[in-house]
Amino acid sequence: MIRFFSLIFILGASYGSFLGLVVFREQRSLSILHPRSYCDFCSFPLPLRALIPILGFFLMHGKCKHCQLQIPIYSVPLELSIGSLTTVFVAQTFDLLLFFVFFLLLFLSAEDLATKSLNSMPILIVQIVLLLIHPSFSSLLLLFLAILINFFDMVPRLITRQFGVGDILLILLFLQIGSWVFTVKIIFIACCFVILLYPFIKNKFPIPFVPFLSAGFIIILLIQKSV
Ligand SMILES: [Zn+2]
Repeated sequence: MIRFFSLIFILGASYGSFLGLVVFREQRSLSILHPRSYCDFCSFPLPLRALIPILGFFLMHGKCKHCQLQIPIYSVPLELSIGSLTTVFVAQTFDLLLFFVFFLLLFLSAEDLATKSLNSMPILIVQIVLLLIHPSFSSLLLLFLAILINFFDMVPRLITRQFGVGDILLILLFLQIGSWVFTVKIIFIACCFVILLYPFIKNKFPIPFVPFLSAGFIIILLIQKSV
């Protein structure tokens, strides 16, 4: 069991490292797939040992071997926290689909923080997978609604200017995964976060809501252990 959770921690920490790369590159409109990780200052490719989550920073003595400049240390707490969060999440809710949604939400949160927009395609794909696993009329309706909103993104703009299409699609995904009570709890927690953090984020308008919805999803699942 310890070996299993150690593997999950390493997987989560590696994913945390990838999320750091997503935020850095998407802020600069760079590809997240190519080239492989490089020094932010001199663009020299990082050696493989530097890519080991958490330990990589210390193995490099916190410096780029090519230009000798300090590597930002934020990667260590980021990898530690995502690794720990992933381990706790798996320990509480061992469900492959929810685990996949958890990873997807972290990715979408990073994307929203970096660019204030997100690619809706992965959300629609998860909705299709959910419909195939648990076919139901409500699932079909929610998927149809999501496709409609995605292709005619005027609808949410007409309802409110506070929500982006990505936020609406995520809420539809939560409705498909759980009940409306489950979804309302997530939105409630997300709104509490926005109110609490408003003094710090009010200058970042439009406020990225996906990270707060994702936090709500994770917290609810950690508390009730299932949908
Ligand atoms: Zn360098």
